[in-house]
Amino acid sequence: MGNCLDRNPVGAKNSSAVYGLAEEPSSELPTNQRTEPPLGLYLHVPFCSHSCDFCAFYQEAPRRADLERYLHAIELELRLFPPGRRVQTVFWGGGTPGLLPAGDVARLGAAMLRHTEGAPTEWTVEMAPATVKEDKLRVMRDLGVTRISLGVQSFDDRVLSELGRRHSAAQVMRAIDRIRHCGFENLNIDLMFAIPGQDPGAWDRDLRHAIACAPEHLSTYCLTFEEDTRLWARLRRGEVRPCSESEEYVLYEHAIDLLEDAGYRQYEISNYSHPGFACQHNVHTWEMGEWVGYGPAAASQFQGIRFANPESLDRWYQGVEIGRLERVDRVVLDDANLAVDAVIFGLRMNAGINLNRLRKRWPRAPWGELESLWTAWINEGLACHPSPDRLALTRRGRLVADAVAREALEVLD
Ligand code: SF4
Repeated sequence: MGNCLDRNPVGAKNSSAVYGLAEEPSSELPTNQRTEPPLGLYLHVPFCSHSCDFCAFYQEAPRRADLERYLHAIELELRLFPPGRRVQTVFWGGGTPGLLPAGDVARLGAAMLRHTEGAPTEWTVEMAPATVKEDKLRVMRDLGVTRISLGVQSFDDRVLSELGRRHSAAQVMRAIDRIRHCGFENLNIDLMFAIPGQDPGAWDRDLRHAIACAPEHLSTYCLTFEEDTRLWARLRRGEVRPCSESEEYVLYEHAIDLLEDAGYRQYEISNYSHPGFACQHNVHTWEMGEWVGYGPAAASQFQGIRFANPESLDRWYQGVEIGRLERVDRVVLDDANLAVDAVIFGLRMNAGINLNRLRKRWPRAPWGELESLWTAWINEGLACHPSPDRLALTRRGRLVADAVAREALEVLD
């Protein structure tokens, strides 16, 4: 449906007390009290050993020559476009960052740390269960990686095969053992629902299995049929039946209830955590903080501009090699588009948004039109004011968050 569970757009935190909305923009503070706003760093590793049946993300086969070329180009890109200030959160996504051999992880990590001005407070690396090996985990731990995000999707081998995933439930359990044995105390498990062949009973078993693994964080994504994927082709041939929207809602709401009973607080439409374990990097981006992206297809939001690197290893490398970084999808940000995005992404979080702070941060945004919108949402039971200056979606509102977002975007037309 996309309402409940689309994948994180940039590669994501209830740490509003620490980041973004809870803070005054530095430009509003007296000069002697200004501090640099938090900065995130996203690094894209575009290699996958095979293509999963549902996946439309940009990816490349991990040929050794390309890996070498990639590592060299990342080192160059970091020198050409250094963050220029302390980096607080790091996210390595992909692709499959965990597929890099231990020596490559060490080289990439060392290159990045030369530019972060100290150790990040949170550093996530995405790993696929089949790639979790002790040597690379030890390298990551020694570099300062704090969080592993494991792409489990399901604990049911039959469901995994429907998705074209190349791991088994047994490999997932071995991967979790290794991650814990290496001392990582912050583990995310990605799960997927509304998969063909996964009935409510199978989804319930996946959730209970995940809870029994005791991760600190869980992400649950609704399967979407993306064009040009093998699953899309099967759908077109009538070989699989997608869940209806009402079936998706049932599965989604079951996850909320079961995970909350198990002590996981939903803090965003697709994300749950134990207290203190929300993903700081993602929350920072949802609160319209600044981040810099490296690697092909990586997006950045920095110094008033949003842009991305080309989705091609060759194009990205050629630009880096001649010292002219190619930027695509470039948007100059103003109060209006930043405020609308802060409303859209902020309302996906259960804590919602602090209206006074947003108004102070972007005073020239179309607040009158936005206010009319949320008055209507409140009247329809989709939103509420948990406190006088805060706006949040209700549980019913979160089910239709995409429709809410579309209405907010129309304010920019
Ligand atoms: S491992 Fe991740 S990025 Fe790679 S094909 Fe599978 S889902 Fe896509």
